[in-house]
Amino acid sequence: MRIVVVGAGMAGVQTAVALREQGYDGELAVLGAEPHLPYDRPPLSKDVLLGKAENSRFELDYGALGIDLLLDRSATGLDPDGRRLRTDAGELDYDRLVLATGARAVALPGQPAAAHLLRTHDDAVALRAVLRPGARLVVVGAGWIGAEAATAARTLGCEVTVVEAAPVPLAGALPAEVAELTRRWYAEAGVELRTSTAVGGIVDSEQRLEGTGGSAVLLTDGTELDADAVVVGIGARPDTGWLAGSGINLDDRGAVAVDAALRTSAAGVFAVGDCASFPSARYGVRLTVHHWDNALQGARLAAANLLHPGPEADLPRYDPVPYFWSEQFGRMVQYAGHHSPGDELLLRGDPEADGGWGALWLRGEVPVALLAVDRPRDLVQGRRLIERGTPLDRSRAADPAVPLKAAARA
Ligand SMILES: Cc1cc2nc3c(=O)[nH]c(=O)nc-3n(C[C@H](O)[C@H](O)[C@H](O)COP(=O)(O)OP(=O)(O)OC[C@H]3O[C@@H](n4cnc5c(N)ncnc54)[C@H](O)[C@@H]3O)c2cc1C
Repeated sequence: MRIVVVGAGMAGVQTAVALREQGYDGELAVLGAEPHLPYDRPPLSKDVLLGKAENSRFELDYGALGIDLLLDRSATGLDPDGRRLRTDAGELDYDRLVLATGARAVALPGQPAAAHLLRTHDDAVALRAVLRPGARLVVVGAGWIGAEAATAARTLGCEVTVVEAAPVPLAGALPAEVAELTRRWYAEAGVELRTSTAVGGIVDSEQRLEGTGGSAVLLTDGTELDADAVVVGIGARPDTGWLAGSGINLDDRGAVAVDAALRTSAAGVFAVGDCASFPSARYGVRLTVHHWDNALQGARLAAANLLHPGPEADLPRYDPVPYFWSEQFGRMVQYAGHHSPGDELLLRGDPEADGGWGALWLRGEVPVALLAVDRPRDLVQGRRLIERGTPLDRSRAADPAVPLKAAARA
């Protein structure tokens, strides 16, 4: 038996580790396009960018685990009928295959090479090198990555401007009335945030008139923002282009469409992490979750289903309460669940006061999602309430002095 995992990020490596933990003793290869030993991405926009850590490698002994790491090697195509993977260094046969190729950062159209993305170890090292005190940094995009990059750059003494096309920061993740509450974090940190501001292009120093130096971010209203460095954080797309022609079903956003057991449309092929979307029975929608916890939990379930493909009805289903965290402007921001526009929003605590605050989304009386700002205990308790679908008493849930679990209806 040979299991091949494509992608040596969190999802791929954790699938391999879970296979060993769950007793698999056959051949196991993990293929990674990058030359580096596998590493964790969250520290890239935090400690690695701040220079507090050189790298964020997983501390694993691949030899002892019997994992054949094939680094600097990319999968280029797949023949699921022949159970054969094509790579840039020859073909590999497999009995079972795991797709864990993650996502790629989206660049602006015509983005010059001098502008930075923040997805890989190399990206973080390149960006760190230009974050000197006094350097002018323009961050395009006020999403999770943009906010974290701005936080690190400001901590390092840069002058930071964040440009966001939407009217509020974190617009893709939170409803406007909640996202708006994070605006003052930028001002307090001394970061200029320009919302409802679209970028038309970036001109780097080579293209600028002699002597001007640096780059310019051209806004669609005609303004030019001078910058010593530009970082673009406008999202990521599943890295699945190499599957073209394989017959593997992708969803309308290009993610590998798996079923609830994390199986793709091809026999013996599973997919996990940022590259996949799964049907959430809990939320009644297909979810693509680009967060760390999903890469870990999905990997464990995929490993179990790879090893024990029992009768259909017995297969464990993947139906998590998604979770992620972000560290921005000195705050720990955590979110669990999934909310939809029709859900009722309940604020918990005063966003202007010290001591943190939160937001709950209720369907009827049942919580479906929770945002916790500097309230990690709320997150732990809230996640459990969401998992169990426990109805809440609204007034107690809105009162930050009441532990969230004590807001459960008897
Ligand atoms: C800067 C940054 C900060 C983050 N911070 C947080 C955070 O604070 N909290 C949180 O919850 N989440 C965070 N995330 C998200 C989290 O890191 C991702 O959800 C997680 O890394 C997904 O893991 P993955 O293995 O699915 O994909 P990836 O980590 O993208 O790994 C996929 C790997 O597959 C490789 N690959 C791609 N194509 C091929 C191919 N054809 N052949 C071989 N290999 C291939 C890639 O090179 C890559 O190494 C952050 C992400 C980034 C980029």
